[in-house]
Amino acid sequence: MAKRVAFTQLSSCWGCDQSLVDLHLGLLDVIPELEIVYWPAVVDYKLKDLENLSDQSIEFGFVEGSCRTKEDEHLLKVMRKKSQTLIAWGSCSCYGGVQGLGNQWSIDELMERKFKTADTVTNGRIPEENMPGFTDHVKANTEIVPFELRIPGCPPTPENTLEGLTALLQGKEYKLPNKTVCDECPKEREHKTITEFHRTHEGKIDPDRCLLDQGYLCLGFATISLCGAQCPKVNTPCKGCFGPPPGVIDHGAKIISALGSVVDMDAEELREHFPDTIGSFYFTDYASSYLSKITSRKNKEES
Ligand code: SF4
Ligand code: SF4
Ligand code: SF4
Repeated sequence: MAKRVAFTQLSSCWGCDQSLVDLHLGLLDVIPELEIVYWPAVVDYKLKDLENLSDQSIEFGFVEGSCRTKEDEHLLKVMRKKSQTLIAWGSCSCYGGVQGLGNQWSIDELMERKFKTADTVTNGRIPEENMPGFTDHVKANTEIVPFELRIPGCPPTPENTLEGLTALLQGKEYKLPNKTVCDECPKEREHKTITEFHRTHEGKIDPDRCLLDQGYLCLGFATISLCGAQCPKVNTPCKGCFGPPPGVIDHGAKIISALGSVVDMDAEELREHFPDTIGSFYFTDYASSYLSKITSRKNKEES
């Protein structure tokens, strides 16, 4: 009998959905085994269609995106109630995602910036009609409701999602690998001391040597390996979008501590190289970091 499946989107770019659709004909391997009961990205389902389903009637519920609005939080809780197995799908869902970088500021500061002071805005005003209620800060969905499974990635590759879905259909365990992008990267790493960092457009990359050894900030050494090292393989440094390997709670802290052993630069020099320090070290998982939690608490106390 086909399994009842739902795919839902909270605040997100819908890239995880796009990645699933990118399976193209590969979808035919699993589609006959699925009864899709909610998937607003491709069919015009409304929230009430989900709310009207019986509790626990969805066998596999995939959640993309994180909670930036109160509506997102409501949708997430409804998905939890209706699903037997809930899957945090993509780095937004697992860690808060790129939008978690907004936790560096209060919601008032974010609104001011977006609607009034951004360079592209003229005669700005903060809209008041039809505005969703915003959450104070972004959190990983896994901090709001319990999940049975996590498939990180920004987005997860089509194969990652297919693998997770196939394991679920076959009743097998889906386990995240305990290895890093470096383990799958074909480049030779010599663990050289770094005295200077370059932007990717600066200098000439030697395609056979480790990008980090050459002074390009490649975060493959602290990032879970699920993507087949697709960025370093084409000479683009890993930005860490799949998050940390299992067991690492704070990805950026791990990166900074590991870099400490190979970088010979003082803090001021490092700051000059990385003016967006948090964006550089916590691309998709700042919301899950200790620093974000401290800042969010402070912003809340001051508001
Ligand atoms: S995880 Fe990445 S690709 Fe998926 S919705 Fe979030 S931002 Fe988009
Ligand atoms: S290029 Fe990046 S992923 Fe490859 S070995 Fe070096 S640090 Fe690791
Ligand atoms: S190499 Fe790094 S940045 Fe590129 S897809 Fe993999 S985890 Fe993401």
